[in-house]
Amino acid sequence: MAPVVYPTTNLTATEQLVFERGEGIYIFDNKGKRYIEGLAGLWCTSLGYSNQEVIDAITEQLNTLPFSHTFGGKTHQPIMDLAEKIREIVPVEDAYVFFGNSGSDANDSHYKMLRYYFNAIGKPEKRKIITRERGYHGVTVAAGSLTSLPANLAHFDAPLEALSILRTASPHYYTGRRGNETEEQFVDRILEELETQIQQEGPETIAAMIIEPITGASGVIVPPNGYYEKLQAILRKHDILIWADEVICGFGRTGNDFGCTTMGIQPDLMTFAKQLSSAYFPISAAVIPGWMYEAMIEPSNQVGVFGHGFTYSGHPAACAAALKTLEIYERDNMFAHAAEVGAHLQQRLRETFESHPLVGEVRGRGLIAALELVSNKTTGASFDKGIAGATAQRACEKHGVILRAVAGNALAFCPPLIITTKQVDDMVAAVSVALDETYGILR
Ligand code: PLP
Repeated sequence: MAPVVYPTTNLTATEQLVFERGEGIYIFDNKGKRYIEGLAGLWCTSLGYSNQEVIDAITEQLNTLPFSHTFGGKTHQPIMDLAEKIREIVPVEDAYVFFGNSGSDANDSHYKMLRYYFNAIGKPEKRKIITRERGYHGVTVAAGSLTSLPANLAHFDAPLEALSILRTASPHYYTGRRGNETEEQFVDRILEELETQIQQEGPETIAAMIIEPITGASGVIVPPNGYYEKLQAILRKHDILIWADEVICGFGRTGNDFGCTTMGIQPDLMTFAKQLSSAYFPISAAVIPGWMYEAMIEPSNQVGVFGHGFTYSGHPAACAAALKTLEIYERDNMFAHAAEVGAHLQQRLRETFESHPLVGEVRGRGLIAALELVSNKTTGASFDKGIAGATAQRACEKHGVILRAVAGNALAFCPPLIITTKQVDDMVAAVSVALDETYGILR
């Protein structure tokens, strides 16, 4: 094994797939085997693996100005153009954008900007952040504490206590319901619990709630109808900001521009990464409203600088990659394409797997979906330690499809947005064979 500390990997594992090249939605290993990349890498390669226009835009930028920072009075055209473009398309009032390199650092940046803002307006006590059970928001210090998945917390002494993070229920009806509760009763119960928690903590101490409109790494959870409407009413009533983590949902994934659009959310802050540049170059964006930015000006003047920034904030090649990616989304009507092919994917998954003995629930929206693998279809009982998810993932690979088992036994789909209906059919057919094999192994 190479001396790499592999991320999000069991460090005892010795088996690895070595990838060499990609083409469209396909990726090839070093033995020449072809796979459909059914998870778009890590929910990110929206334009597939061989988009020459994005490669050319990056190359041209590297040939012209391969680096320029944006600290203390320096700037360049690509960062200005990208910020204007983002402001034009996001549902955030008079948006300003802080650029970083990953979804995690964008969430940490938001965390810090919220502190900065509330200190600036004389409400330093408004500092707690609400996050949800099962949520995934990254792995840096603040983002890693906002994440609720046990594997990301264990052994890291996370969540860090000083970060003042509150946790509330995940809106997953299938695993969270009690007895014969209806979806509506489930939603009302978990939101009542949340409101009680807000009142006990004191709303004046809570800055924001972070939500991923439809979750990815926590198992592709699509909250029941009515959840977001009621949640937003509670948050608005208590003057708690809505922070939408669009790192996976952003840019067409759910069949609309943003997950917020699909789920009817009006966000105050938004986090982007991944599909912002189709993952051809690392870049993230922490978007804040103009009124928050205005309040941050004077404190920066008192100190002499707004003291937060990365060497690579707004890297010119990353901005060029993002600008070209956003241009292609618009020109090629990519979000409408994702809506159309996504509807086909959802239908094919339901037709093929709803009656499968291993599948408890088929869920998703647009081009993101998951199969919940269960040991008992009637009770919904799960398999221990994600064994079904891991076995199914390997079987899918054997049959030429890369998927990802997440949050235990949820088998996640998130193909590049460029996938066609015919390719969706190929993927579903291969996964069907793989799941039958998995059932044979686990039975
Ligand atoms: N937020 C969400 C919703 C994510 O899914 C991820 C990564 O999967 C992140 C944040 C962190 O992004 P990154 O891995 O680029 O740090």
